[in-house]
Amino acid sequence: MPANPIAATIPFDRDGTHHGFLRLPHSRNESAWGAVMIPITVIRNGAGPTALLTGANHGDEYEGPVALQALAHELRPEQITGRVIIVPYMNYPAFRAATRVSPIDMVNLNRAFPGAPDGSATQKIADYFAQVLVPMADIVLDYHSGGKTLDFLPFACAHYLEQASQQAACVAAVEAFNAPYSLMLREIDNVGMYDTLVEAQGKVFVTTELGGGGTATARSVRIARRGVRNLLIHAGIMAGEPEHAPSVWLDMPGDDCYHFATCEGLVEPLVDLGERVAEGAPLARIWPPDRTGLMPLEVPAQRAGVLAARHFPGLIQTGDCLAVVAEQEG
Ligand code: CA
Repeated sequence: MPANPIAATIPFDRDGTHHGFLRLPHSRNESAWGAVMIPITVIRNGAGPTALLTGANHGDEYEGPVALQALAHELRPEQITGRVIIVPYMNYPAFRAATRVSPIDMVNLNRAFPGAPDGSATQKIADYFAQVLVPMADIVLDYHSGGKTLDFLPFACAHYLEQASQQAACVAAVEAFNAPYSLMLREIDNVGMYDTLVEAQGKVFVTTELGGGGTATARSVRIARRGVRNLLIHAGIMAGEPEHAPSVWLDMPGDDCYHFATCEGLVEPLVDLGERVAEGAPLARIWPPDRTGLMPLEVPAQRAGVLAARHFPGLIQTGDCLAVVAEQEG
């Protein structure tokens, strides 16, 4: 295996605050010997646990980037024991283009793990996280939201894992993050995901979906900022009292939570995020995009629950995820 070409411009093992870059060589028409410069902050104070915090794994999701920019600016070494590694814009080319996947190679970083040191730009970023950054970490937080095409109830999430002790540690970290909703999730397609890689390395992992539509809101940013502070306290890295509010547990145990469009058209939502639906009740209608006078396609809920995610744009294509219905406890 060739070595990964990414080099950090700052040390990982020195006390203090270090702002710098992960430098990824990227030779191209505009810059023959140029590089992609991925911002990174490392804050360290003596021996202790390491937290690895990332945003913009998908480039059009903004709560993580905002919360992590603020944390990198505000957190002082004397406030922590151990180390915090902050990468607000994980797929930096995608973030700069405000797109889900990288404009360099059209690769979705969260389907590119474990990556390749001699692969495309996005595969190199994935390999660097897999080989260098994740192994340093005890606890990993990867912020997501729905991006331009989905909108979510704000939740932090843990996956069903084979190791009961690891799953319990992840669930405790999700509870500590304390989003308004907390979710147990079985991914529809976990191959290539950062989540899968991090969990396979035995780490405590928290991911989120805090909103969507290609923007952040005051509420979703507050949830993101409070959550990371709570998580650092939970990990024993920060001192202080966590802020705690009630969180509703949701469960997405199977494929029938996901509803996909079987025709294209104009979406008429019939249920909003957080509202309850009965099994068989209509979630949305899809009207023909090209004529009047025809029946819309009505999409019924495959199970009872609450609407946890929905297609965001007003128009939908065949195969798009229209709605996600989660079971609500209690
Ligand atoms: Ca995402």
